[in-house]
Amino acid sequence: MLGSRIKQGRLAAGISLRELAQSVGLSAMAISKYERDQIKPSSETLLRLTKALGVRTEYFFRQPSIELTEVDFRKHAKLSVQEEAKALEDVREKLERWLELEAVIPASWPKAFALPKGLPSQIHTYEEIDALADRIRVAWQLGTGPIGNLIDKMEEEGIKVILTPHDGGKKFDGLVARANGHTVIVVGQDWPGDRQRFTLGHELGHLMLHGRISADLDEERACHRFASAFLVPKQEALRLLGTSRSWIEPRELYLLKHEWGLSMNGWLYRAQDLGILNKAAARRHWEFFSQQSEGGVTWRQHEPGNAYTKECPLRFAQLVYRALAEDLIGESKAAELLGLTLVSLRARRRMDATDAAGCH
Ligand SMILES: [Zn+2]
Repeated sequence: MLGSRIKQGRLAAGISLRELAQSVGLSAMAISKYERDQIKPSSETLLRLTKALGVRTEYFFRQPSIELTEVDFRKHAKLSVQEEAKALEDVREKLERWLELEAVIPASWPKAFALPKGLPSQIHTYEEIDALADRIRVAWQLGTGPIGNLIDKMEEEGIKVILTPHDGGKKFDGLVARANGHTVIVVGQDWPGDRQRFTLGHELGHLMLHGRISADLDEERACHRFASAFLVPKQEALRLLGTSRSWIEPRELYLLKHEWGLSMNGWLYRAQDLGILNKAAARRHWEFFSQQSEGGVTWRQHEPGNAYTKECPLRFAQLVYRALAEDLIGESKAAELLGLTLVSLRARRRMDATDAAGCH
C-alpha cells in the first residue's frame, strides 16, 4: 500500500524514478523497490520523499481507494502520457480528500448524482438536444434564465467538480469520470470563465447523452450542442436575438456573453444552430471576427473586452469549515484536507487571508 502511494505521489508530481532518486539521494532501483513494496523506506527516507514530492506524511498512509473508471479525455486532448498521469493523480488525490470528508459529515448529504427521469432513450437529431437540455433545466429547477454559478449547481446535483492545474499547457479542457460510485467532472483551472462553463456543459452533455445518441450523430458535436443549449435555452435565444438576423452587433454579443456566461463565439454558433443566422450570415461574422484583432490576436482566438469571471468549487471547502465548526474534525485535519499549512488555515479562520482565486 505504501508503495503504490509513493508511486502515485511521484506521478502526481510528474517526475521520473530517476529524478526522484536524485532528489532524495538514492538509486532509481531503490525507489522502484519502494514502489513495488519490496522494501520499506526508513522513516528518515520517508521524510525526504515527502519533501521531494511536496506532500505531507499523511499522504502516504491514506488508503489508495479511488478507482477512476470511464475516464474519457476529450478526443483532441493531446496530453503526453506523463501529463495525463499527473492530471489523473491530481484528481485522485482531490477525490480521496472528498471521500475522507464525507466519511465524517452527516450521511444525508451531499446526495449522489442521478440522471433525471424520463429522458428520451434515443436522440436522432441535434435539434432534439435543445428539448433535452430544457428537460434537465426543469428537473434541476433552473428556470429559463442565466445560470449564475454552474459549478455550484452541479455540486448541488451530486456531481463533484474538480479544477486541476495539470492541463498540459491548455491541451486538455475537461473530462467526466466515475469513481467509487461518484460522478466527477474535471476542468482545467486556467481557462477563462466562459470557456470553463462551456466545458462543464460539454461534460454534462456526455453524462446526459451517452448511450442515447443515434449512430449517425457525432457525440462530441452533440455535447457541444448540449452545452450551448443548456446555457442558453432555445426560447430565450430566439427572444433575445429574434428569429432571423443578417448581422449581430459585436457589442450585443459581448453583453449577452456577460449576462449568460456563453462566449461571443458560442453565441454565434447558437444563432447558427437555431437558424437565426443562415450559413452566409454566420460566415460574415466569422470573417469579421477573424479580421478584427487586439494586441495581434484575432477576436476568434481571443475575444475582445473583459473575460467572463471564473467559477470555483466552494462546496468542499465550505464542508471542511462546517466539519471544523461542529468539531467533527480538528484543525490539523482541516488544514490537510484543504491543502493548507496550519498557519494559513488559522489566518483564514480569522478571516485574515484572502485567496487570490477566492476559492477557499
Ligand atoms: Zn467530449
